Amino acid sequence: MTPADLHLTAAASRKGSLILVNRDHPLREELIPDLVPLTGGWPDQHLDRTAARMLAAAIRAVHGEGQILPVSGWRSQEEQQAIWDGSLTDHGPDFTARYVARPGCSEHQTGLAVDLALSADKIDFIRPEFPYDGVCGAFRRVAARYGFVERYTEEKQDKTGIAAEPWHFRYVGVPHAAILTDAGICLEEYPAFLREAPRVVRLENGRRVQVRYLPFCGTGTTRPAPGPCWQLSGTNEGGFILTVWEGQP
Ligand SMILES: [Zn+2]
Repeated sequence: MTPADLHLTAAASRKGSLILVNRDHPLREELIPDLVPLTGGWPDQHLDRTAARMLAAAIRAVHGEGQILPVSGWRSQEEQQAIWDGSLTDHGPDFTARYVARPGCSEHQTGLAVDLALSADKIDFIRPEFPYDGVCGAFRRVAARYGFVERYTEEKQDKTGIAAEPWHFRYVGVPHAAILTDAGICLEEYPAFLREAPRVVRLENGRRVQVRYLPFCGTGTTRPAPGPCWQLSGTNEGGFILTVWEGQP
């Protein structure tokens, strides 16, 4: 057994950049995200290190600095609880159930989700304005290339259980964001989509990437590494997604 083996453990199935976090799939593993401060938005917001770098690159790509503001990134369980409690007091249970995730069930607790706002004099913290035109529209068009998906759309409300949130973006990484976007599916649908068949995609640089689903089938399952360049993420719904980059970078 080498450190490069795949370790398909129960704990590993609940961590990683592709985990599903929603009301049916709460966080079950204490995550210790590698957080960095978010720049260019509201103070004291943090995001996963890779997600933050890719977000900054996507905003730069559309010349959105100063116009696209990250207003909410990582939240602790306590912060999510405070937002939930505050929303219940201010807006009541119906609004809160529609727009605020229960503590433990918020993607923000992973450090991989960010709420974006178009710069304005007044910004609504819970429902920031992030329209479909202008610089925000331009951001949406490049988001998948930088690993981000618009997570809660009107069409997928029955699958996500969350009302449309045009401001909430989730980092899932490359090439997953493009696969999800091209297939028109949300993260809830991704494990079943990959169980149908492994997917092979070609990146813009010509490199082939294979993506497949692996079920969790017992404690401590170890498999040999599939090659020199791979990534394993849990799904938090009972399995793993294995991404393998073929050939040389
Ligand atoms: Zn959000």
